[in-house]
Amino acid sequence: MSADSVTAPETRHALVVEDEEQIAYLLRFILSREGFVVEVANDGRAAQELIAKMPPPALVMLDVMLPFVDGYRLLSDIRAREDWSGVPVIMLTAKSQEKDIVRALDAGASDYVVKPFKPEELRARVKRLVKGAVS
Ligand code: CA
Repeated sequence: MSADSVTAPETRHALVVEDEEQIAYLLRFILSREGFVVEVANDGRAAQELIAKMPPPALVMLDVMLPFVDGYRLLSDIRAREDWSGVPVIMLTAKSQEKDIVRALDAGASDYVVKPFKPEELRARVKRLVKGAVS
């Protein structure tokens, strides 16, 4: 066994910001199965509080339309923090808001998923962005 292969199992956190309970539940379920420890914020204000106090996670899933503070604002908060600037952020958007995807990508989103999404699609996008995500 080479020294390179001996790495301590690393706890990977994912931050999910989503106000629709069923989608938040589904995201928590999918990401937990991928080995993430999942933190959920159900509105923009709660997300700001979490972002202020948690270390940079391995992944952020960020809904665009949220109570109090929207996903664009949160994305710019995230990108403004030096230690969070490289964190992969996948935006969640509704079909009717598909045109807003350009705005999200311009603002620094890594990728996006249109709701309703297929779990397999979500998993594929997460694996593309997060190295070492288990299958
Ligand atoms: Ca929403």
